[in-house]
Amino acid sequence: MSAAADRLAEVRQRIEAAARSTGRDPADVTLVAVSKTHGADRVREMLEAGQRVFGENRVQEAQEKFPDLKSAYLDLELHLIGPLQTNKARDAVKLFDVIQSVDRDRLAAALAKEMAHLGRRPSCYIQVNTGEEAQKAGVAPADVDAFVAACRDTHKLPVVGLMCIPPVDEEPALHFALLAKIAARNGLAKVSMGMSADYETAVRLGATHVRVGSALFGARPPLGTLPPETHA
Ligand SMILES: *Cc1c(COP(=O)(O)O)cnc(C)c1O
Repeated sequence: MSAAADRLAEVRQRIEAAARSTGRDPADVTLVAVSKTHGADRVREMLEAGQRVFGENRVQEAQEKFPDLKSAYLDLELHLIGPLQTNKARDAVKLFDVIQSVDRDRLAAALAKEMAHLGRRPSCYIQVNTGEEAQKAGVAPADVDAFVAACRDTHKLPVVGLMCIPPVDEEPALHFALLAKIAARNGLAKVSMGMSADYETAVRLGATHVRVGSALFGARPPLGTLPPETHA
């Protein structure tokens, strides 16, 4: 087995064990392999090892890597997990199968317009800022119900779930439990939570999608060597 296949097998095994430990069906948990900063060759290794669902947090980086891979693997599913600028909505709707970072009305309106224009409807998740961190994207927990309703009823977006990124210095379980609760009361079946350090906890608390990068691909280059994040 390749190193990529080894790491993939280990992460899948851990997901399966975490699911079974709380009586969940492991088939209800989707592993999103987060390939940001890693080249198309690394993604191809994961594809060869059997992985089909990938996450990227920048539209432009995904545009550079994924069109060829998507033509080679027709069942590849690509998720946008990073902040989306309104002026990139068209590119995002064209390329991604799932957009996990819907977090404000102007973006919801732009996505709805581009979906109508392009005749393509990627599934949408609402990003929730469970830690209410000023610098972080996402809707405040208290505003989620109204925003979900607006996305569904006003913008007619295909909203299927919620996503969160807990504060780095807090117990993630509290945030995962909160996200699962808000999803349930809004009738949303999908909950995207958990990263390399805490995906087993997330699975135990109901994650349907875990977003795992470094545990699959190894460490990324240190943050300072990457271009800065751009928010809306
Ligand atoms: C990078 C990233 C991940 C994966 O992080 P790891 O700790 O490498 O698993 C998950 N979710 C989002 C939104 C990310 O930006």
